[in-house]
Amino acid sequence: MAVGEALRQLLAMARATPLVACELVRLRQADGRVLAEDLCAAIDLPPWANSAMDGYALRFDDLAAQPLPVSQTVFAGNAPGPLQPGTCARVFTGAPVPAGADCVQLQENCTVDAQGRVSVLTPLRAGDNIRPQGNEIRAGAPLLAAGTVLNPLALGVLAAQGVSQVSVLRRPRVALLSSGDELAGEGATLGPGQIHDSNRVVLATLLERLGCEVIDLGCVPDDPLLLRAALAAVEGAELIISSAGVSVGDADCIGALLREAGEVRLWKLAIKPGKPFTFGHIGAVPLLGLPGNPGSALVTFLLLARPYLLARMGVARVEPMRVPVVAGFAWPKAGKRQEYLRVRLDGGRARLLENQSSATLLSAVQADGLLEVPAGETFEAGDVLDFISFDGVMG
Ligand code: AMP
Ligand code: MG
Repeated sequence: MAVGEALRQLLAMARATPLVACELVRLRQADGRVLAEDLCAAIDLPPWANSAMDGYALRFDDLAAQPLPVSQTVFAGNAPGPLQPGTCARVFTGAPVPAGADCVQLQENCTVDAQGRVSVLTPLRAGDNIRPQGNEIRAGAPLLAAGTVLNPLALGVLAAQGVSQVSVLRRPRVALLSSGDELAGEGATLGPGQIHDSNRVVLATLLERLGCEVIDLGCVPDDPLLLRAALAAVEGAELIISSAGVSVGDADCIGALLREAGEVRLWKLAIKPGKPFTFGHIGAVPLLGLPGNPGSALVTFLLLARPYLLARMGVARVEPMRVPVVAGFAWPKAGKRQEYLRVRLDGGRARLLENQSSATLLSAVQADGLLEVPAGETFEAGDVLDFISFDGVMG
């Protein structure tokens, strides 16, 4: 199955099983969380017309009568009275513009005579250097939509509205396990034939960055009974993510369990790395079976599991942002599968990292992201391809 088709099916299933529980959190706790409700502006912003500059506020029509005496001084935080006709007001940035004034001239563009009267040196139009009330947003207008992933900027927009708490989606509970007889537990000395589990820390921290609560099931040997017992002990998980045990082989435990449960929805994708990616259900709980090779686990998590999870969280834009970059190398041999190459961006060109093995993670750390090569395509150095930055999908 093509990656695009698999993603389409995954997203349809995700949108059909949205996570809905929400909770109120303070703004400083809301970074990275998903807004649970549509929010409208509570107040006009700015709440009143204010000066964009340090200078003099005046009535455009009074320009003919200059020099103008200064009738009041307004700092940010003051509440000025109306502007007396035929005068100007000394104003500073952010200060409310007195009623009646319709423009502000910068202090650099004015002269003040011995009597303290102001003349404007350079031409001015009505409205100049005034930020009108409601210029940014009007009270009642849509502010942020449900499904917005709150970031520092969105939190600033809420703070400017006087919001101190927001309703966000409760953290999704994701059970995570690594499968394989060869996996040594954390901190253990390696026995013969053993390797350290690296997938779990990668996936757990990626999930936590997506705002999930991770239920860590640890490493589970390739034993159907132990696997079933580990999964049966999971309570309250809304999703299970596993790595390894999905390729066809004698130790294909996760795949076997899903087939036994009668529910393998996706299997064998035209993606490289990551072909054995599997999706099914254990009881009512969806399971994303990522391949065991660290490079494959990473790519399928970012390209498939992440969008699926974000879609269940009600996020509108779930796919990684792709930006065009120029390839600094040629790709003369077309592959059958859509391929994700680890590349570094040097001077705006993508440079291919030497080790593209799905078994290695180190070259992913050295890479800036993934270059997407559609199935069946070749390219020349200088051609433009889609690039997915790790920065964009790990945050
Ligand atoms: P499998 O999908 O079980 O055939 O595993 C594919 C490859 O990934 C094998 O070389 C495994 O040893 C390796 N592998 C599986 N799980 C992990 C893990 N949690 N961390 C690092 N490597 C793994
Ligand atoms: Mg295995």
